[in-house]
Amino acid sequence: MKSLRARLCISFTALLAAALLMFGVIAWLVAREAMTNDLDDFLRSKATLLGRLVSVSRLRMEPWIEQELQVQERHFMLQVFAADGSLAGKSSNLAYAILLSDEVRRSEHPAGNAVIETLYVDGRAYRAATHPRREQWGDPVTLYAQALMPLDAVQAREWRLLVWLVGCGAAMLAAGALAAWHLSRQWLRSVANLEEAARGLSSAELGLRRLFVPADDAELAALAASFNLLLDRLESAHATQQRFTADASHELRTPLTVLRGEIEVALRKPRSAEDYREVLVSNKEEIERLSRLTENMLALAQVDVGDGIAQRELVNMSELCAGVVARLQGLASEKRITLQHEDGTNEPLSVNGDRIALERVVANLVENAVRYSPAGEQVTVRVSKAPPWIEVQVIDTGGGIAPEHLPHLFERFYRVDKARSRVHGGSGLGLSIVKALAEAHGGGVRVTSAVGQGSTFTVRLPAA
Ligand code: ADP
Repeated sequence: MKSLRARLCISFTALLAAALLMFGVIAWLVAREAMTNDLDDFLRSKATLLGRLVSVSRLRMEPWIEQELQVQERHFMLQVFAADGSLAGKSSNLAYAILLSDEVRRSEHPAGNAVIETLYVDGRAYRAATHPRREQWGDPVTLYAQALMPLDAVQAREWRLLVWLVGCGAAMLAAGALAAWHLSRQWLRSVANLEEAARGLSSAELGLRRLFVPADDAELAALAASFNLLLDRLESAHATQQRFTADASHELRTPLTVLRGEIEVALRKPRSAEDYREVLVSNKEEIERLSRLTENMLALAQVDVGDGIAQRELVNMSELCAGVVARLQGLASEKRITLQHEDGTNEPLSVNGDRIALERVVANLVENAVRYSPAGEQVTVRVSKAPPWIEVQVIDTGGGIAPEHLPHLFERFYRVDKARSRVHGGSGLGLSIVKALAEAHGGGVRVTSAVGQGSTFTVRLPAA
């Protein structure tokens, strides 16, 4: 695993190397071309001048001509040939004569322009400019004046240039890599700080500390902000979990304490069979309460981990509600409450969902309405269409719920009247199960209520 910093530096250095290489090659080609052109111009001008200075009648190399042309200072050589190509004179710095090439002899230019060529003598290369002198346009050649320079010297200059180019390029590359390494450390320092701060956060500090959001770095600020958002969510999930555990153990402890107390009292002295029976009946009630509670907790846990919906099928909500109403008629008549089912339309109002879970949603709401309404009231289950939703409303004409309780009603273990609810057998999980299941189906639940007038719970589910 490579670090971001290393990757940044490698990419930057590679880019710089490519740019330098391209620049170097271009500079090298241009410079070499310019150097060759310079040399050719120089030799051409010297050859032309030599051709003018040598007199045709005294065809030889005079010392003053060498001086005039600065042969020694400029490190080049001269030769003069007669019209037939035989050597007539050479400068003193040329050890042996170099023959006139056939190419020059064949040169037919009527004005006598200098010919440029590269000659090889004894394994040594010379650049030569030869001026065939003509007295007038188109006249025959009277003499050949030649200026030469060994190419070793030129090649040495080219090598020096190459060494300079490579040396400077390498130095620039090294400097660039160093700068990238240094700069990237500065850029990434904030990331390192962020990482260090995040690592330093203990779970106990979850609710207290947040990461510093740097003002001068947009990307890092966004990263720190979303990290803090994650911490917020973690904190709230952590708090919910803690509350749930505390509430759950409290709810479990109460029936267990009652059970233990009853059994201890019963065991204190021998009793009649009738007395034992009474204790057992009471125990059974507590145990039933415990079973209901654990069942509800299990149901919630299943929705939490995403297992709330076992299988999806097309469920006709009107039929389902009618079934629930029929099943709970007994409970309602026990409390002398009128329970009825209303269906406004004739078309099937279907939902794609889990039949058992949906039955549980409706049953929980109807049970609540029946349980928390005084005798003589009415409970209505109404199914209707409100595209794109199917709505199930459970309407009661009971006591209603005070406004301060409404926002908390769907919270786990929340009960309006703790003492009264316990008598009814409620643990405060019923509505949170309704909410969780409705949301697992892609819908939701809401409540409107007025004290003394009754409550309406509305479940919305996406229509199939
Ligand atoms: P419980 O198990 O106590 O019934 P729920 O989550 O089902 O828990 O309900 C939470 C509280 O909301 C109940 O304790 C009750 O006080 C109140 N409640 C629920 N439904 C109604 C209703 N139809 N009318 C009045 N109060 C209700």
